[in-house]
Amino acid sequence: KAKQAGKNRAQFYAHHMQADALARVQLENDLRIAVEQQQFVLHYQPIVNTASGRIVGAEALIRWQHPRRGLVSPADFIAVAEDCGLIVPIGAWALSEAVRQSRAWREAGYPALRIAVNVSGVQFREPGLPELVRSLLAGAADGREHLMLEITESVLMDSSEEAEARMREINGQGIGYSLDDFGTGFSSLSYLKRFPVDVVKIDRSFVRDCPDDRSDASLVEAIINMAHSLDLRVTAEGVESEAQRDFLRRLGCDYLQGYLIGRPMLAAELALRMAADGVLHG
Ligand code: C2E
Ligand code: MG
Ligand code: MG
Ligand code: MG
Repeated sequence: KAKQAGKNRAQFYAHHMQADALARVQLENDLRIAVEQQQFVLHYQPIVNTASGRIVGAEALIRWQHPRRGLVSPADFIAVAEDCGLIVPIGAWALSEAVRQSRAWREAGYPALRIAVNVSGVQFREPGLPELVRSLLAGAADGREHLMLEITESVLMDSSEEAEARMREINGQGIGYSLDDFGTGFSSLSYLKRFPVDVVKIDRSFVRDCPDDRSDASLVEAIINMAHSLDLRVTAEGVESEAQRDFLRRLGCDYLQGYLIGRPMLAAELALRMAADGVLHG
């Protein structure tokens, strides 16, 4: 009897593993088609200067317009895309689309926003990234201060010498880096000195309970002071309340991003928002 139960359980697991494996194969296939047919869209989340409240930048956040599943969040496909290598063409698309959009905004008279694009560590392991950036910016002398790459601490931690050289090469083209989700990884302060990072983004998990939670509040204060002493700027992620905004302003946090400022939105919506903020030239 016990033997039978064991057998049933084994079949149960086998069945589930098979279902998982099938779903995974299906996802990879769909992703391959998505790359061919460019089923992706970038949403833009505004980033404001804390002191002035003006929009100075935006983070480009990818979504997948799946023909049956609708809009799929990056949380549901980026990890798989990294595993199977498809993040390389997907990331290249995101970069070129962000550069194109940023240029289109400037040509339409909108002020120069600094667009931050998330770049996976897998992309740094590919030799083609510096050349891609170079070709995207070719012919536009003004492209550089309008683009920023967002990387996570893990990129710095596992970066090989080649990956580090690639980072520096891109930085040499005038492109800066922001360090995403700061505080959630295991990076040491020495990384901040060693790599050409310009902006530290405090992860939203630390901002969430500010200012009421004393230990989170001190942590956020310490990160801001530490970053400033290294001559880095600081963006707080996940700012949802006025109390959080006021707290961060008191601490001298340079930039704010979060639902209080604006949700990730279509490019056209961000343009309306810029116009409403009165930042349109002329
Ligand atoms: P991330 O880079 O840390 O992006 C911030 C995430 O926090 C976004 O989720 C954004 O919608 C969300 N968020 C912003 N403000 C708030 C807030 O006030 N409250 C809350 N609860 N959430 C907020 P999203 O768009 O789902 O993206 C998830 C992650 O997917 C990103 O985290 C990034 O790691 C990755 N990702 C997005 N686009 C790309 C891409 O083009 N390439 C790569 N490699 N990764 C991407
Ligand atoms: Mg990011
Ligand atoms: Mg982030
Ligand atoms: Mg985050």
